[in-house]
Amino acid sequence: MNKPPLTLFLAAPRGFCAGVDRAIKIVEMALEKWGAPVYVRHEIVHNKYVVDNLRDKGAVFVEELDECPDDRPVIFSAHGVPKSVPAEAARRELLFVDATCPLVSKVHIEAERHYANGLQMVKIGHAGHPETLGTMGQLPEGAVILVETLEDVASIDPRNPDKLAFITQTTLSVDDTADIVEALTSRFPNIVGPHKEDICYATTNRQQAVKAVARDIDALLVIGAPNSSNSKRLVEVGRAAGCGYAQLVQRATDIDWRALRGARSVGLTAGASAPEVLIDEVIDAFRQRFEVTVEIVETAVESVEFKVPRALREPA
Ligand code: SF4
Repeated sequence: MNKPPLTLFLAAPRGFCAGVDRAIKIVEMALEKWGAPVYVRHEIVHNKYVVDNLRDKGAVFVEELDECPDDRPVIFSAHGVPKSVPAEAARRELLFVDATCPLVSKVHIEAERHYANGLQMVKIGHAGHPETLGTMGQLPEGAVILVETLEDVASIDPRNPDKLAFITQTTLSVDDTADIVEALTSRFPNIVGPHKEDICYATTNRQQAVKAVARDIDALLVIGAPNSSNSKRLVEVGRAAGCGYAQLVQRATDIDWRALRGARSVGLTAGASAPEVLIDEVIDAFRQRFEVTVEIVETAVESVEFKVPRALREPA
């Protein structure tokens, strides 16, 4: 039977960012250096495929430090942790490695600097996300006001409207955040912001590539986990850019083929924690059903790399 033709527009950049790449390397190198098991507090990155793979190699994923024994190394995830976590690890004299992405650590430092200068912090981010918990946990309880929406901006009640600074989560929608920042600066004209926004290069580039792809396609698939903030934002950005059908899928088995019946052009991208092997799997699944032509839509070239911590570069 003849397969119908279909063009897959592959967004570039997509998939792994430098922070995710580094965090996975940290777990792999820790396993090599210290042997299994190595404990990891929270999913090292939000991707089941990555987590399952590392689990097979001997990583044990836990949610809290009190689930880790005293005699095994523990790694903190790429999203960052509240200050209380390394403090407790040090108190217990645990061997720990912090895989917090350096771009998240940069936001932590900003928050501390503003706080030390007497400014009250406003954080634009999602409640409950580990990055939000980690960033808010750099400062004493209650020191940071969390803002998620434009409505929140209208209702917050800071101590002194002239002594405010804001920071953002690294994985937000660039456009939605710009609206919130505008609302903040119009309500609090003296609020201090980052020199360059906190949304990271990888989030920005992946959203830009999706915008370039989304306009002229029948459907957009974003490979990523349901708890991956940057992946969910890619779906929203695709919809906002005019793509009527944009879906998050973890793997090829999640694709709703009935919804794609009649499609002739599909955009494909992956969140920053989704490995390229899952893109290949999805392309193969399309090839089984369609006569596929792949076109790359590249809007940026990335060359960012982060070093792993010294403890892992030194011999055992
Ligand atoms: S998405 Fe950005 S902030 Fe998050 S790990 Fe990747 S590079 Fe770091």
